[in-house]
Amino acid sequence: MSGAKSVAPENRTVIGLTFGNSNSSIAYTVDDKAEVIANEDGDRQIPTILSYVDGDEYYGQQAKAFLIRNPNNTVAYFRDFLGKDFEHIDPTHNHASAHPKDVDGAVSFTIKDKAEEDAEPSTVSVSEVATRYLRRLVGSASDYLGKKVTSAVITVPTNFNDKQKAALLAAANAADLEVLQLISEPVAAALAYDARPEAQVEDKIVVVAELGGTRSDVAVIASRQGMYTVLATAHDYEFNGVALDKILMDHFAKEFLKRNPSAKDPRENARGLAKLKFEAEATKRALSIGANASFSVESLSDGIDFASTINRLRYETLSRTVFEGINRLVESVIKKAGLDVLDVDEVILSGGTAHTPRIASNFSNIFPQTTRILAPSTNPYAINPSELGARGAALQASLIQDYEADDIDQSTHAAVTTVAHTSNAIGVVSLNAAGEEIFVPVVPAETAVPAKRTVHVAAPKDGGDVLVKFVEGNTHIKVTKPEPKPKEDKTAKVEDAADSDEESDFSDDDEEEEEKREKVWKIGNTLAEAAIRNVKKGGKVEVTVQVNADLSVILTTREVGAQGGVRGQLNA
Ligand code: ATP
Repeated sequence: MSGAKSVAPENRTVIGLTFGNSNSSIAYTVDDKAEVIANEDGDRQIPTILSYVDGDEYYGQQAKAFLIRNPNNTVAYFRDFLGKDFEHIDPTHNHASAHPKDVDGAVSFTIKDKAEEDAEPSTVSVSEVATRYLRRLVGSASDYLGKKVTSAVITVPTNFNDKQKAALLAAANAADLEVLQLISEPVAAALAYDARPEAQVEDKIVVVAELGGTRSDVAVIASRQGMYTVLATAHDYEFNGVALDKILMDHFAKEFLKRNPSAKDPRENARGLAKLKFEAEATKRALSIGANASFSVESLSDGIDFASTINRLRYETLSRTVFEGINRLVESVIKKAGLDVLDVDEVILSGGTAHTPRIASNFSNIFPQTTRILAPSTNPYAINPSELGARGAALQASLIQDYEADDIDQSTHAAVTTVAHTSNAIGVVSLNAAGEEIFVPVVPAETAVPAKRTVHVAAPKDGGDVLVKFVEGNTHIKVTKPEPKPKEDKTAKVEDAADSDEESDFSDDDEEEEEKREKVWKIGNTLAEAAIRNVKKGGKVEVTVQVNADLSVILTTREVGAQGGVRGQLNA
């Protein structure tokens, strides 16, 4: 971060920030607990929007409201444009607000941001828009905390490249904000859970589904003794919150036209479209909590008011394609990581769209019962998905706030994605109750190195010689097919479902017995063998596996409490 703004540790006041295309959030920590703070409008999810009226700048929810009356001077959905050339941006979401423009290849917006009636509109670069917006967030945070916020950890998607990161850093610096670190969104979400006082640090595979307004990002993360390694990621720009809004907008526009056959389609004029969108999003949010929601817009088209309702099942049926797209995204990234759903210990739902109950219940069907699905509708201990990123960022900020800027840079630069890790598990062979050889993992696969783990293995009851065999282990999925059952006639049921609106037509079709899938260890290559002679009666043998940063391995065995032992080294 050479040349970047840096503040002496003793002068810092730090916050965690998420800066999304749709919303942003601010968090800070008190007594090691992260809290998301509300801005002056009382919002914890602050729309990432700026709007100018008569030279006054509005941001957040107030700016969002201006999308209806003042769209041309309102800038929305711009975060992903930072650090990109005009020719590489996707302006799809900007059709109902200020349009991005090509100014010598850079992305800019032309807006009237001055008070004078006859002032020329200004051309404002996306970097400047980001700076103005971040300045407002910092202002709100400073007002709330009663002191000037100087520094932040900001979350970014895992596919933000160096240019995008540099642009974000520059925009923040220009807003007089020191960026202590940019951390990846899924790691922030995992941290928000793992830093809870009641959380147990355990080795686990976590899937983080970050479901926002314009993008869905999924990551598979290995968490080993509090170190996170991102194993695989996937990004999608089609199955998202905006797509769900669009489904409700179309649904209600059609109903409006059915009731008012001679009225103009509200989707054909900008104001009608903006009103539909605003209300559709509110209805969608209400459906995350209740079984029914209302939809009501004054003067939707041709001066005609419109009011209606929808129930959750109907909404879920209409949105099925989007939900299925999200399921596929999650399944694909697990495959990309070379894993199976059975390997996943935890699924964290993060982002606004993650409030949708159907998405969480679909995940419950994809994953085995042993996988924790952390979403408000499936787990009472779930943290608000809209707050995970900011909380994780705030926790990270409080952890590193005492370091000099250069040290933070050195110790954490892009570490999470590039850390070397073991690909196979390393363990020892033991015997199970039936006397069969089984694999006992010592260092799990995907452990960030260097790593050192110790286990105790049983010695014969009466003591004697113990042979320890160090092996690699890998898992495979054992499939047991159910006994075939006589077939029933299902035709009538299928027809019923086909034209019923209210039916949720993707319930788990019948109780059809599923094949049983379980994860079993397979003993792989033998790495080394060590014999410990004359272990005393009731004695225990301690086995240590140390994997060094260069992936060389040191294996040690000894009798607990005895002198000596056997040590061997394997090169990577
Ligand atoms: P992106 O960068 O992908 O645009 P973001 O990270 O800026 O997203 P989020 O706040 O995570 O923004 O997600 C915004 C989306 O979440 C919007 O589509 C919003 O309508 C939706 N959303 C917010 N709250 C809920 C809710 N309670 N139920 C369903 N959807 C919700």
